Amino acid sequence: MNPDNIRIVLVNTSHPGNIGGVARAMKNMGLGRLYLVAPRDYPNEQAVWRAASANDVLDNAIVVPTLNEAIGDCQFVVGTSARERRIPWPLLDARQCAARMAEASGREQVAVLFGREDRGLTNEELKVCNLHLNIPTSGEYSSLNLAMAVQIVAYELRMLSSDNETPVSDAQEWDAPFASRDNMERFYTHLEEALVDIEFLDPAAPRQLMSRLRRLYSRVRLDEMELNILRGILTETQKWVERGKNSER
Ligand code: SAH
Repeated sequence: MNPDNIRIVLVNTSHPGNIGGVARAMKNMGLGRLYLVAPRDYPNEQAVWRAASANDVLDNAIVVPTLNEAIGDCQFVVGTSARERRIPWPLLDARQCAARMAEASGREQVAVLFGREDRGLTNEELKVCNLHLNIPTSGEYSSLNLAMAVQIVAYELRMLSSDNETPVSDAQEWDAPFASRDNMERFYTHLEEALVDIEFLDPAAPRQLMSRLRRLYSRVRLDEMELNILRGILTETQKWVERGKNSER
């Protein structure tokens, strides 16, 4: 994926605030190339205000009078639409479509077109696209604010970018190694013993208890330290049972 090869194209936007919001959404997600096709009220200080610290994206935005001038050099063009099946066309959701764009951006110029606040992209504009992208929404209200639609598409691209260091809570981040299978088996044996000792488990009628407990512990993935704590608790519990028995005698 090469974000430098991906441009966001806003067609005939009415509200300059939305243009600023788009610039911000783009910069947050590491995109920088913005094209404005015949914006209705631009430049405008509302755009600057809404862009916050993404003024560089606005400053570098390219304003052109026609769509052709914004996408003439592109090999892969995606049109976004709030309504599914406006015209029958290959249609993907934002995630699927981001994968196609990310792949194409390795060697091609990619454009994503966003339409007017009041009536979206025209059928003519949608027909120049290779693919249509729809962000799935509630059936009751499918039309997102323009900048929010850009945000979602930019986020999906971000998730595919190699710069994206998603913290993964896996072994490398954890402060103790996860318990080995052998140690888990020793723990289950110990647990079963202790449950028999305290008469919670009747060996004559064990039912599904041990399977259920296995399922519980495997869901959380114990680490070695946690396992030792649990084994310690079992050992102490067994000592108490033993003491109780001795004092009864
Ligand atoms: N009434 C217009 C909605 C325009 S919203 C219509 O029915 O098309 C402004 C722009 O935001 C749209 O042109 C599109 O680019 C984008 N957008 C809004 N909601 C979207 C959605 N659910 N999926 C994809 N793009 C969306």
